[in-house]
Amino acid sequence: MERDGSAADRSLGSVKVASDREGLELAVVEARAALALDEVPVGAIVVIDGLLVARGHNRTRTDCDPTAHAEVLALRRAAAVVGAQRLVGATVYTTVEPCFMCAGALSHARVARVVWSVRDPKFGGVISLGNVLTDPRMNHCCQTAEGECADEVRALLRGFFEDKRRKARESTNTPDLS
Ligand SMILES: [Zn+2]
Repeated sequence: MERDGSAADRSLGSVKVASDREGLELAVVEARAALALDEVPVGAIVVIDGLLVARGHNRTRTDCDPTAHAEVLALRRAAAVVGAQRLVGATVYTTVEPCFMCAGALSHARVARVVWSVRDPKFGGVISLGNVLTDPRMNHCCQTAEGECADEVRALLRGFFEDKRRKARESTNTPDLS
């Protein structure tokens, strides 16, 4: 078994994903897995022919790897499952609008469609700060959609960052008894 449990992904092909809501609900499950690791809660899955092929969640701190974003990890696993570098016809569901790095990876993977729940005004490379997946000058463009499960994803992110701020305040307010 690989260090993050991805070996189990090879049996994911029996899980059907019938709608964008179902896809994003599975991505939210992954975001919760990131939260359990004390990572920024972002999750992603890859669907091909209506079947779940791979999943991933943010592991940047856990793996000490700035590129260990949910989408990149899910793409790597999907490519391993399919046995090809290109995921033609795939839909990727991710809880947060992909950053520039992930949007670039999605483009290189020739993914057909990318669906996310909430925009990322600070890192989003698809609609907030750039249009990596839809710029007609790019070699490959994707269909995009957004909005399902947004309240749940926003609550997860808000809870994570509020907790971080609270802990930072508490550590600052701890009286120095030395
Ligand atoms: Zn990213």
